[in-house]
Amino acid sequence: MTAPADLAPLTVADGRIAEVLARWWGFETLRPLQAEAIRAALACRDSLLVMPTGGGKSLCYQLPPLVDGGTDVVISPLVALMKDQVDSLEAIGYPAAALHGALDSPERARIRDRLAAGELRLLFAAPERLVNTGLLDLLARVGVRRFAVDEAHCISQWGHDFRPEYRQLALLRERFPAAGIHAFTATATPRVRDDIVAQLGLRDPALLVGTFDRPNLVYRVVPRTDRGGQVEQILGRHRGEASIVYCISRRETEQLAGRLAATGLLAEPYHAGLDPDRRHRTQEAFAREAIDVVVATVAFGMGIDRSNVRLVLHTGLPKSLEAYQQETGRAGRDGLAAECVLLYSSADVFSWEALVRKSAAESDLEPRQQEALVNAQLEHLHAMRRYAQAARCRHAALSEYFGQRYEPATCGACDVCLGETASMAAGTVTAQKILSCVARVGGRFGVRHVAEVLRGARTDGIARHRHDALSTFGLLADLDQRTVENLVHQLLDQELLARTGGDRPVVTLNDRSWEVLRGAREVVLLEPRSGRVRTTRTEADDWQDVDRDLFERLRRWRRRIAEARGKPAWTIFDDKSLRSIARDRPASPAALLRCRGIGEKRLADFGAAILDIVAGREPADA
Ligand code: ADP
Ligand code: ZN
Repeated sequence: MTAPADLAPLTVADGRIAEVLARWWGFETLRPLQAEAIRAALACRDSLLVMPTGGGKSLCYQLPPLVDGGTDVVISPLVALMKDQVDSLEAIGYPAAALHGALDSPERARIRDRLAAGELRLLFAAPERLVNTGLLDLLARVGVRRFAVDEAHCISQWGHDFRPEYRQLALLRERFPAAGIHAFTATATPRVRDDIVAQLGLRDPALLVGTFDRPNLVYRVVPRTDRGGQVEQILGRHRGEASIVYCISRRETEQLAGRLAATGLLAEPYHAGLDPDRRHRTQEAFAREAIDVVVATVAFGMGIDRSNVRLVLHTGLPKSLEAYQQETGRAGRDGLAAECVLLYSSADVFSWEALVRKSAAESDLEPRQQEALVNAQLEHLHAMRRYAQAARCRHAALSEYFGQRYEPATCGACDVCLGETASMAAGTVTAQKILSCVARVGGRFGVRHVAEVLRGARTDGIARHRHDALSTFGLLADLDQRTVENLVHQLLDQELLARTGGDRPVVTLNDRSWEVLRGAREVVLLEPRSGRVRTTRTEADDWQDVDRDLFERLRRWRRRIAEARGKPAWTIFDDKSLRSIARDRPASPAALLRCRGIGEKRLADFGAAILDIVAGREPADA
């Protein structure tokens, strides 16, 4: 690691950096690692910057070419990502373009002309387009000095998102021996990091690794009992705000989106099975703030840059903490408080296990490789499960998983530290009732049946097996079915109960169950009810002195501009900037220029309209 920014001597370039930052972006300071990364870029020293989503990686490759006036190239895996970035850059007057397959040939030719004329500061391209279209020759002719490889973990098969076409980037080092190569990723594991350095052939790179903790995110894990009802309740805390609800199956996204739409929410489903046109429209509507909620499978993600997502809600368990970190990373990219809730049931662990085994068995891999694949995936899954079921600080657990110490004794921003989780009054007794019911039905039935017996339900199965005659029949009649099933799953999670594999898994007792039944072991069960939530410090601070009514008026105006221009709303202005205006209530252009996010271009484009809105007048059309 290089020395922290505040110890490094200031140079003339630093003055230029500050000037460019204020003039184009309206930002006051760089974050420490940004300064390091930008200095490395300007010195043409290779670098690898590892920062969590929202950490501010893009600025590190956007700023340098404005300082030294060259054209830099950004390699990005997805067209959607490139387009969003170009839109954001155009909003501040930054000359950038993306070359991709969705352009027609006159459009492509125009971009190549601008490139040849030296008009562009940044050119975005996907790796396959970069190496297979003669583009490299053109880049060599215009004298490109820097390449930024975004989402660089895609080059590593140890990462969670390997893309073979990234491997071709190895030839950049050969073709451009004098150029700086700068890699950017949010994936922190040392193995992936080393792989990136090796594959890209980075020379003595500056290794810049940021902190993984996202203090503005509030993490909560809630026992899942009534999916639909819980989702409605949690979304109720975010009326009118952007939310992403992740589901495991496609069918679920459609059902849930339908249910939410029926309650008056602006919600749409999104999954890979919908036709591309509809997917595209949903994504655009979300970007322009025409809808608030997207109910999606993980297919919705990469390329969603909306920075003011205030809630990411998982209705099912992600397959790994890497995936969870990435999906929740889409919340609060603007640095304002946002909530990440996981509705947890260990039933999902079993479904994933079955799926992992099935897909390995159906692959063309050899048995040995299949086994290795299954084991690796189960390891990820079980790390995810441990996170969900542990009653310890979520920020600490996530940081440690990604190899970083978490110093604060309490984060003040997770369900555990906020004291929102509650244990059941009679945990041990309830566990004993459940376990003795499993003993009575003879270890031949699944979770649902056991729960039905405990609740005293009148089902065909119970009648057929005469389980209504058992002494445990109706022992938990005061609880509902989902609650009892959740309690059984909590026992499975704590390995106080076992479950067989296969198509029709049954629950059985193990040694630990008997310890509980004998009274030799205490059991803590979480109250399977959600609802209690506390306001965090960040949430309160974010709204400190903000005129909420003015903020809403600014947002409505932003939505109109976004509609009119057909651009994502946050590329016009992010929420943090709007709140800064709604806090300071500037009355003159000079005062407006002091607000966050206002540089020269935005002042010229929108200054008059914003001052009108602040003064309570109808804004002049922009
Ligand atoms: P990443 O690419 O690492 O996910 P982004 O580049 O999208 O992160 O930046 C996340 C947010 O932080 C954006 O809203 C961006 O405008 C803001 N940001 C980045 N750098 C700064 C800075 N130096 N000062 C203020 N805001 C910043
Ligand atoms: Zn905590």
